[in-house]
Amino acid sequence: MRTRIENLKGLATLRENNQNCDFLAGNSMDNWTMIDDAFIEIDSGLINNYGSMSSCPKGSSNIQIIDGTGRFILPAFIDSHTHLVYANDRSEEFNMRMHGSTYTEIATLGGGILNSSKQIMSSNENQLLDSLLERIEKSKKTGTAALEIKSGYGLTADSERKMLRVIKRAKDQVSQKIWSTFLGAHALPLSYKGNHDAYIEEICNEMLPKFADEGLVDFVDIFCETNYFSPKHIDALCNAANKFNLPLKAHVNQFSSIGGLQAAIKNQAWSVDHLEFMTDQDHQDLYRAFESNLSYRKPIPVALPGCSLFLDIPYTPGRRIIDSHLPLAIASDCNPGSAPSSNLGLCWSLACHKMKLTPKEGLAAITTNAAYALGAEKQMGHIAKGLDANLILTKPVSNLSFIPYSFGENNIEYTFIQGR
Ligand SMILES: [Zn+2]
Repeated sequence: MRTRIENLKGLATLRENNQNCDFLAGNSMDNWTMIDDAFIEIDSGLINNYGSMSSCPKGSSNIQIIDGTGRFILPAFIDSHTHLVYANDRSEEFNMRMHGSTYTEIATLGGGILNSSKQIMSSNENQLLDSLLERIEKSKKTGTAALEIKSGYGLTADSERKMLRVIKRAKDQVSQKIWSTFLGAHALPLSYKGNHDAYIEEICNEMLPKFADEGLVDFVDIFCETNYFSPKHIDALCNAANKFNLPLKAHVNQFSSIGGLQAAIKNQAWSVDHLEFMTDQDHQDLYRAFESNLSYRKPIPVALPGCSLFLDIPYTPGRRIIDSHLPLAIASDCNPGSAPSSNLGLCWSLACHKMKLTPKEGLAAITTNAAYALGAEKQMGHIAKGLDANLILTKPVSNLSFIPYSFGENNIEYTFIQGR
């Protein structure tokens, strides 16, 4: 069945003038084409045709017509960084924090990542799957049609495998495209008593080969931070991951600059995520990674403004990154400890209100550039013939800027996933 949405106030193409680029960088993040008074046609799950109403086909037999008066079509949002598999939320820790408890006090009482880890251990796969499916459904209501999901609360071979199997089962059950990331190096399990090297060895020599053989992994990830894992651990992880052709996505520069960004670039990471804390040298090194003509994928920076909001830490310097002619992607980081929301519309608002992006730059960051962060830029993230019909039909709004301007409001009428 074909569907045509007509009389749209606007159609956000994102890459209409940039079909030859795989992402939008610098000025082009704000300069993409919005087609006014537009239509779009969907056939067999793909975008079949689109353009201005003056070129809209006239026939209405064998086609479902939707009137889009006053509304916009946007590419559906893509969440390139989430931790959606977890047992229970940590709202009780939030309550303690709001009553004045510090992180250290909460951790001493059994809170933090190790709390989530304990809960994963005592949950079975079916329970974890049910709650994951609920969260994926919830993210669809706020416009997300494709998402990456990480392990990392397991911290033992059995529990990490359990998380990855849950992600794999979700892939088979939902129409959203899902990528699975092995983040064994998220925190050090208590049993390793400060011996990070030994735990990385277990990850590289025991866990990763097994999980890769079982087809459970699309990317590897590591939390490179003071008191967590170091740049040399990134080298070791990538050395192991290269044998299975698994690219790196890395948590770097969240609280400090310890060379994680440089190690991720050296190891040809597909994305460098967080970057709240960047020195001038970090900015230069990131710039150089994009300047080079080498043919490997560029390590696109990914900001996580929901985490900055929740933890009350600085925001990634997105304005400076874009002003340096680089691309920027934005993801939710949805997780129970530091960003308990998968709402990318809210991240879009934060990108504007707190990171000083323009509304068009913010949309580019959660669509076309997010697709690049996952290697999906030829399949989704912008409007072009033959791409997946992953689309958002907004409610009637005065203009595109109204959407991030009205933070916390739901301006989405429908999310289409592969045309449905
Ligand atoms: Zn994260």
